[in-house]
Amino acid sequence: MATIQKDQVVSFHYTLTDQQGTVIDKSEGQPLVYLHGFSNIIPGLENALTGKAVGDKLNVSVAPEDGYGEYQPEMVQEVPRQMFQGVDQIQVGMQFQAQAEDGIQVVTVKDVTDESVFVDGNHPLAGQTLNFDVEIVDIRAASAEELQHGHAHGVGGHQH
Ligand code: ZN
Repeated sequence: MATIQKDQVVSFHYTLTDQQGTVIDKSEGQPLVYLHGFSNIIPGLENALTGKAVGDKLNVSVAPEDGYGEYQPEMVQEVPRQMFQGVDQIQVGMQFQAQAEDGIQVVTVKDVTDESVFVDGNHPLAGQTLNFDVEIVDIRAASAEELQHGHAHGVGGHQH
């Protein structure tokens, strides 16, 4: 029976809850599809799935260092409000794309004053221990093209 190894495309259903049991995210209808061994998903989850088979159900607790990292207070930055010209209303919780040294970074508005906007470059799930309820629904070999691109294609994967 096939088990999950590097270079395989894996489909799985999941429910993600935080430490309080609140559902943060879940696969709706379509399973999530990813290429195993290419860091397409967070390391704590990817490692836990290695060696699992279709039909396996597991509960995985992922610590921040194996998930979206520790929360880093220094990643909150004060930005002059005039940088947001063209945005009618800036509200706490809004997300923007910002140009960072290593590519596009998504920042979340933490606070707004008359002169400044405080944006947070931490991943929204940084610092959190994450609980995944997972059910493996499919495992298949990746195509040469998928391996070259480093991600899964087709339904639930990259469409291009
Ligand atoms: Zn591709």
